[in-house]
Amino acid sequence: MTGTVALRACCSWLKNMLSVAGEQGFSVVAVTSGDLRGFRVQATPFTRWQAQTWNRVARESLLPDLWRDEDGRLAPVLDGMSFPLWFCPLCGAELACLIQCQRDEFDRLAASHGRFVCPLSATAPQER
Ligand SMILES: [Zn+2]
Repeated sequence: MTGTVALRACCSWLKNMLSVAGEQGFSVVAVTSGDLRGFRVQATPFTRWQAQTWNRVARESLLPDLWRDEDGRLAPVLDGMSFPLWFCPLCGAELACLIQCQRDEFDRLAASHGRFVCPLSATAPQER
């Protein structure tokens, strides 16, 4: 658990997913980029400890075969992925409204989530 979530979530699903931001498996992270604010569903196979180990292994290229596909071409290894969330999948709330009504709380949450956001999740939220 990542601590208290001051932002009032639309329902228990979002509240629970925000409370496990950055944990192994699925979570929801709050992301800002410039004036853009948004939620992203994020999935990572690693615990934080495993991610640190993974980063060391990647930096030191200890397992070079991991960077190649079956034909020997360089291929990225994903350590996480995410997609933008416009509506709550449980209750259907439009999340832009939730963010606009609680901008300060959202910004504080996004600042606290910064260290949990996997690199691929760091992509700026997309405008619809
Ligand atoms: Zn909801």
